[in-house]
Amino acid sequence: MLEVKDLTVHYGPKPALKNINLTVHEGEFVCLIGSNGAGKTTLLRSIMGLKGINSGEVYFFSKRIHTLPTERTAKLGLTLVPEERGLFPDMRVRENLVLAKVDVTGSELNRVFDIFPALKKKSHMKAGSLSGGEQQMLAVARAILSKPKLLLLDEPSLGLAPLIVDALFEVITMLHKQEGLTILLVEQNAHRAMEVSETTYVMENGRITTSGLSSELLDDPRIQSAYLGI
Ligand code: ATP
Repeated sequence: MLEVKDLTVHYGPKPALKNINLTVHEGEFVCLIGSNGAGKTTLLRSIMGLKGINSGEVYFFSKRIHTLPTERTAKLGLTLVPEERGLFPDMRVRENLVLAKVDVTGSELNRVFDIFPALKKKSHMKAGSLSGGEQQMLAVARAILSKPKLLLLDEPSLGLAPLIVDALFEVITMLHKQEGLTILLVEQNAHRAMEVSETTYVMENGRITTSGLSSELLDDPRIQSAYLGI
């Protein structure tokens, strides 16, 4: 579904991504882990056309997307939930949701409220008054309303309490398992991300250094000592 080929991206003269190769198959749940500044956000932004690339290619269902503006890429079915969530804090929860696309129907909204019941209760509250966890749920809910073929999540657990992270990962897992959603998840919380995903890519200093089945990498002593605190 998504194929990143030999992607190199610089900020000025400084390379942030070096010859990245990464594949996401339809229906797959892939996570990308790596320490602070490894280049994970840059990769998501480059896939979405938010950051220009220096060389390499990105394909989505065999269509070249690295030359497209972000709106066109989004229309093809890629939706990014950015680290900073991109909500409108002074607008109500419901208003934030209907901004997902021009023609949100009542039944689509109800479906999202079934998945995120806490948002239904607070649908008339301003997004900025929600807790961090609820705001993250709202950001994911809005992304779901846009009916993505591929959902890109950038550090959704950042700054959230462990119980809230549990709830968030439960929803993300449900969206993958029950709704068949294809997901590319970027996380510093490597353990959680690897537990819920099928495939893991590890990024260090702008390069993919390891990739494989999450279940196998969870048992890999090098990954355990570098990323899992074991
Ligand atoms: P984090 O987990 O902290 O978000 P990350 O793995 O997502 O880290 P990036 O944010 O992609 O990493 O950053 C990769 C490298 O590019 C870092 O060295 C960072 O300092 C640099 N970088 C990121 N954004 C910019 C920018 N706008 N201008 C210049 N350098 C940048």
